[in-house]
Amino acid sequence: MRQHLSLEERSYLSERYGLRLQDDPRPCLRSITAMELLDRAACESYLDWLGDYIGSPTRQATASTLVKRYAAIAVSPALYSMTVNNKGLTLELEHCLLETPELPEHNPLGTKLPYLSVSSYGISLPAPDQRRNWREHTVRELFAGHLTPLIRSLSEIARVSKMILWENALVRMVPLFKEAIDSAEDPTAAARIREDFRYIAREAPGELFGERRNPLSALVESTGMDPEGDYKHRLRRTCCLYYKVSAEYCRQCPLPQESRE
Ligand code: SF4
Repeated sequence: MRQHLSLEERSYLSERYGLRLQDDPRPCLRSITAMELLDRAACESYLDWLGDYIGSPTRQATASTLVKRYAAIAVSPALYSMTVNNKGLTLELEHCLLETPELPEHNPLGTKLPYLSVSSYGISLPAPDQRRNWREHTVRELFAGHLTPLIRSLSEIARVSKMILWENALVRMVPLFKEAIDSAEDPTAAARIREDFRYIAREAPGELFGERRNPLSALVESTGMDPEGDYKHRLRRTCCLYYKVSAEYCRQCPLPQESRE
């Protein structure tokens, strides 16, 4: 039987993450599939356009900003669906369209960063007593099959370190787990979400990320989330370069005060 998301689940993903699960294109200034970002010429052209549009002075800063955004609009809803609703959301790179709509007149200062439309997706549910296997499969699909190729391509094309890009993904994942733990409907659900975070960020083998080692495990301490899911303020390990776009430094910026521009 084909599985699906409930109306309520779809609405939440749309309201919280801006995710459009439909394939009718909307008028856009520019759009590109995630798959096209694996192609050097298409990726360079898109990064240069996006950099101009958001006011980023370098491809490094643009690629870094884009990965942060992608983690918020694609990775976070997929993980939310897995950990809160127990529904694996399969997103294929070719079906993920990054869209930059025109800024609405009523909100000219809204974000200029892209939104995600997904033209086709799959849903999987864990079989009874098989949640661990299902989770392993879901995590492998999302990371090794989806995010890692994008991170590799953007890292190589924009010459920005993979460590920065993985930390960007992680800093977008942490709030989703934190919020989900805080608002879990019962202690069992909170424990499951906490365990999912620990598994992804600390215990999952590198193979699920298409890497030799888990790229998140060396970075998770600095996110402030401990293995129990408690949160403390910490500095990032890497600076994500967004200050070059926004002229602001975040509270987690690791750059020493004296080196800031
Ligand atoms: S200040 Fe924070 S958000 Fe800004 S570039 Fe540094 S790490 Fe990134």
